[in-house]
Amino acid sequence: MKRIYLDYAATTPTHPEVIKEMFPFFSEVYGNPSSIYQLAQKAKRAVEEAREKVARFLNAKTEEIIFTSGGTEADNMALKGIAFANKKRGNHIVTSKIEHHAVLNTCKWLEKQGFKVTYIPVDRYGVVDFDELRKSLTDKTILVSVMYANNEVGTIEPISEIARITKERGIYFHTDAVQIVGKIPVDVEKLGVDLLSLSAHKLYGPKGVGALYMRKGVRISSLIHGGHHERNKRAGTENVPGIVGLGKACEIAAKEMATEEKRLKILRDRLYKGLNRRIDEIFFNGHPQNRLPGILNICIKYVEGESMLINLDLEGVCASSGSACTSSSLEPSHVLLAMGIPPEVAHGSLRFSLGRDTTEGDIDRVIEVLPPIVEKLRVMSPFGKKAKSGEYRG
Ligand SMILES: *Cc1c(COP(=O)(O)O)cnc(C)c1O
Repeated sequence: MKRIYLDYAATTPTHPEVIKEMFPFFSEVYGNPSSIYQLAQKAKRAVEEAREKVARFLNAKTEEIIFTSGGTEADNMALKGIAFANKKRGNHIVTSKIEHHAVLNTCKWLEKQGFKVTYIPVDRYGVVDFDELRKSLTDKTILVSVMYANNEVGTIEPISEIARITKERGIYFHTDAVQIVGKIPVDVEKLGVDLLSLSAHKLYGPKGVGALYMRKGVRISSLIHGGHHERNKRAGTENVPGIVGLGKACEIAAKEMATEEKRLKILRDRLYKGLNRRIDEIFFNGHPQNRLPGILNICIKYVEGESMLINLDLEGVCASSGSACTSSSLEPSHVLLAMGIPPEVAHGSLRFSLGRDTTEGDIDRVIEVLPPIVEKLRVMSPFGKKAKSGEYRG
């Protein structure tokens, strides 16, 4: 049975060219970039070349890129780093209700440290309420953090509009761009953000490496203390192969993302149309236009996401229900709840995320196997197909 991987938003397979590029830095070029002999300087040069590639990809300056262990660390670094460096100016942070847990749980921790956090609601499409956000800003607000694109439903947020008001008010603006970097062109100058997080393994790079873009002049407190790596912002011997891999992944994405975007949109829409024709009481979640090309999030009434996932897995199909971090818990997705979807409907959510190796044949196979799974599960469902379902209108 062919495996059909439709969970690219959770992680992507490392691109073969990325692996090829990384390989020598595990073996021949093993020097520590901080040492002075040529073997080490070669490794150092590779790190700096990767920094140039990442910077070019984001239209940033090389000195504005700090390598981290991934998206989670970049988010932590941005939020805690800005919070502690600006404690004297104020203690208020604004974020949204639909952030990744890397941001939400960092905010919760910061609340325990004496910071106040406002969580801005979203509309039914998952778009942050701009007026609420503007009204929430006070003289004590030091940071706004709103994700660029949501990892569960794919909705793209109005980042440059938010940047305009934070700039006016002299407030730092961070965006978690982990899901969008590599899919749609990201230009930090056009966006006007101060800090931006990205992660290699979401764009066909290796796991365990990412970066934080930090606009020139922005100061943060470091989280990790030690040597003078990463311009004193992040101590620790560089993950040279990983960093090289991230640079290569950005270079490949720059070349391929435009055609890939068009291709994925067609496949994604084919998937929804096909499922919608064969399954009744199925709802689409997310913004109808402004969303990522490769994500399809749906709710199917009277069935549980978990049960569908297990049955899909038996057919060789890898998908997700909510985010990877929540699919092991039985709580419905905080993103869908924030979008006003009733908990009993949110329980029946599925996320398909498409990528590089997804074919039309894969999509047609899912359209073929999912409807009978839903039918079978609905017969056994504790919710019962006839159970009252409230007012939800999809
Ligand atoms: C995957 C993801 C992260 C975490 O990145 P890691 O590199 O896995 O730590 C953060 N934010 C979003 C939106 C993500 O999708």
